[in-house]
Amino acid sequence: MKKKKRIRWIVGLLVGLAVIVYLLIMLGILAGGTSWKKFHPERNAPVSEEAVGLSDSLSNTLSADNIPLSSSDSLTEKTSLPSEGIDGFVMLSEAVPDALQEIRYYTSFNFVGTRIDGYEEPVALLTKEAAAALKEVSDDVMRQGYRLKIYDAYRPVMAVQHFRRWAADPTDTLMKAYFYPNLPKSALFRLGYISSHSKHSRGSTVDLTLVDKATGMEVDMGGTFDLLDPQSNSLRREGITEQQFQNRMVLRNAMVRHGFRPVSSEWWHFTLLNEPYPNTYFNFPVKSL
Ligand SMILES: [Zn+2]
Repeated sequence: MKKKKRIRWIVGLLVGLAVIVYLLIMLGILAGGTSWKKFHPERNAPVSEEAVGLSDSLSNTLSADNIPLSSSDSLTEKTSLPSEGIDGFVMLSEAVPDALQEIRYYTSFNFVGTRIDGYEEPVALLTKEAAAALKEVSDDVMRQGYRLKIYDAYRPVMAVQHFRRWAADPTDTLMKAYFYPNLPKSALFRLGYISSHSKHSRGSTVDLTLVDKATGMEVDMGGTFDLLDPQSNSLRREGITEQQFQNRMVLRNAMVRHGFRPVSSEWWHFTLLNEPYPNTYFNFPVKSL
């Protein structure tokens, strides 16, 4: 009897040890062993999935022009021929005569530092629908003591391609001090400031500010047009005075009242909600119609 008891005790001990060893092995695998990953490859990527999610949300927050194309968008979007679509457009000098214009991409005073491809004349073009809505905005702000000042409106695809070529050359940082002092050039595309498609090419997006009618001076928005920086976020409070914030709101509220949608990343950028060509990216040059 004594001997049998001892044998049973030894067997029990061995089984217990085996269970402990088995548990230790499983714990080791769960804590990051390679064999688990080999059989469950999706477990390899939690960090990169997070990183993608983060950059996506950053893009959505910061980007005005960045248009993530879903597969359905890719099927329906269309880049027009160089002469196509002009009939649907008007000159803002005729449709909104009270608005001032300073078409920066026709000049070298922009973040690239040279005239941008496709800007053959310093004029602003928009779709008839966007121009009609902008006329209402202009009348609205005129009653409040301001005039609109247009920096950019319709932007041909060839101009966006010029931006992309520039973004791909890390050595060309001529205008960094003025237009992107706080961000490395390499971040501009990633954060959505430069993108492969621009809503401006659809003809119903405009970049603009306010000018004080009494002084003729641009209203202080706490940053200038095309300052590629978090400082330009429309609803930012940090580093922005109450007056600067209220100035941004005068522009934003007037645009929203007349059918435009703002973006979070750029206080100067607005798109007509009911834009007539939501899937067409035009490529005729900017010049008088
Ligand atoms: Zn814009």
